Amino acid sequence: MEIITTIQKLQKAINKQSQSIGFVPTMGALHEGHVSLIKQARTENKIVVVSIFVNPTQFLKDEDLSSYPSKNEADIKICDLAGVDILFMPNINTMYSDDEIAIRAPKIRGFILEGMSRPGHFDGVLQIVLKLFNLVKPTNAYFGKKDAQQLALIKQMVDNLFLSINIIECEIIRDENGLALSSRNAYLSKAEKELALNISKSLKEATQLILQGEKNINILTNKMKETLKGTSLEYIKIVSRDFKYIDTYEPQNSIILIATKIGSTRLIDNLWI
Ligand code: AMP
Repeated sequence: MEIITTIQKLQKAINKQSQSIGFVPTMGALHEGHVSLIKQARTENKIVVVSIFVNPTQFLKDEDLSSYPSKNEADIKICDLAGVDILFMPNINTMYSDDEIAIRAPKIRGFILEGMSRPGHFDGVLQIVLKLFNLVKPTNAYFGKKDAQQLALIKQMVDNLFLSINIIECEIIRDENGLALSSRNAYLSKAEKELALNISKSLKEATQLILQGEKNINILTNKMKETLKGTSLEYIKIVSRDFKYIDTYEPQNSIILIATKIGSTRLIDNLWI
């Protein structure tokens, strides 16, 4: 595995590739969720590139940029073991200059749910993903359904800007108790981790109700709210898979999304149903 930190070296390594490149962009503190994306990229491409970059433009001022978990040594080992060919670990001055041209998230889909809770977040996400796409020139890029709205917006960016990249949607990886893996889980105390299990529990309960025939979104979300009472709920929404608000559950075309805080840790989860 080659570890690269500069644009020049990355471009040199990429430009000599004529075979399919699978790309997994991450912010590091890698866990099994990231590894599942890397493994899928490994099976579907000749060359696998992973980036680790904690992107400052996607954090709001009061968010956890300065304390975001960093585990470079372990991350390098994980990538090596997972069969990564190129690990790109740039620093901030490599990726950004001052007074940049910026990209804006779309006005509707980019400003509901996560976009409403975290204004500007998706502008930063799209900016860095586009930069990385331009550098890595992937054939296939792998993103987790865990960040469902991010995934939808990246697909839209690829469509709107006519990029020739396949966006591959990867399933959410959970721990043995159902908690969706996240780098931010490292912030949780034991008791908070227990409480966080109510997130996936509420998603399971909604699934049960749907299987019993319930389609009314209010009834479904109210039931979930009860389960999530002990947490500081930001939103529970059920949307269609193209992120339109719906009143009635649409079979095989709906996503249930949750954002909530457990103590000071903000967690998101969702279920595609
Ligand atoms: P991050 O490092 O949080 O920016 O995540 C990098 C990529 O890993 C994104 O495409 C995420 O959606 C994906 N990811 C994060 N957690 C999980 C998970 N538990 N299961 C599957 N994919 C995940």
